[in-house]
Amino acid sequence: MKTNPAAKRPLVIAHRGASGYLPEHTLPAKALAYGMGADYLEQDIVASRDDELIVLHDIHLESVSDVRERFPHRARDDGRWYARDFDLAELKSLRVFERMNDAGSATVFPNRFPYRSGYFQLSTLREEIELTQGMNRSSRRNVGLYPEIKSPAWHHEEGVDLARLLLDMLGDYGYSEHDDAVFVQCFDARELRRVREELGCKLQLVQLLAENSWGESDTDYDHLKTAAGLAEVAEYADGLGPWIGQLYTLAEIDGHPVSTGLVRMAHQEGLTVHPFTFRADALGAGFESYADMVHWFVETIRIDGLFTDFPDLAVAELSKK
Ligand code: CA
Repeated sequence: MKTNPAAKRPLVIAHRGASGYLPEHTLPAKALAYGMGADYLEQDIVASRDDELIVLHDIHLESVSDVRERFPHRARDDGRWYARDFDLAELKSLRVFERMNDAGSATVFPNRFPYRSGYFQLSTLREEIELTQGMNRSSRRNVGLYPEIKSPAWHHEEGVDLARLLLDMLGDYGYSEHDDAVFVQCFDARELRRVREELGCKLQLVQLLAENSWGESDTDYDHLKTAAGLAEVAEYADGLGPWIGQLYTLAEIDGHPVSTGLVRMAHQEGLTVHPFTFRADALGAGFESYADMVHWFVETIRIDGLFTDFPDLAVAELSKK
């Protein structure tokens, strides 16, 4: 199960699947991304009450499912429904929808899959691995996995070692060596270092970069963006997953994109760089088209891969080179 040999060009990582076309993290969205030629399929991982690994972007459920109506009395005091409070069978009974806004009145992306339409379920990591490995066999490809350990400190408080459960499951399916087609990603630097140094993980690890204002973890992202911080990341990780806004600014004179130098600094530490998120319906500031955006990031600042909701468009652009 060695690394995808198609990776001569930058990697196309399907962000929550082909989420520009189908509700995020559903198996249909993953199968579509596979068919569109993505190199890696992303999984965000949270734990259920019975310690099953669920593929879900948030630790709570109400933005992408009908949990509010199905289990009206199971919210916590903060008014949110947590996947951790439900068993797998309950989670499987929910209908999954295109991501809704906080008010639950419309989809976040108005031109995507219709609001509260369709028949989709939450899926487990096991289901997604078997789908991917099955298609790898029938397609003679080696599309990889790109799991994210979500909110590890919160999961520890809940009494579950999410990273250990993830590594155990990956190992059960044959993913354990550095050149296997897996990147494990996490925003929490302390946890990702623990994955390498205490849990002995040999897989490729990617340190995600947030802004400190996002409240993702207690990691100091302003520090990680410095030369000293990147040198620390390189002690335990193979790559960096920054937000696109951390890689460029806009020139005052004519508004064209200008590199912040972060990709070059990361490369100097031997880190591969996979920024998020490339969206055709929410372009980065200063870009006229999805194609312009992809080509600037690849040819001007030389990223090594990209997370996208539209894997078909990224594959098409990168095939033109
Ligand atoms: Ca993610």
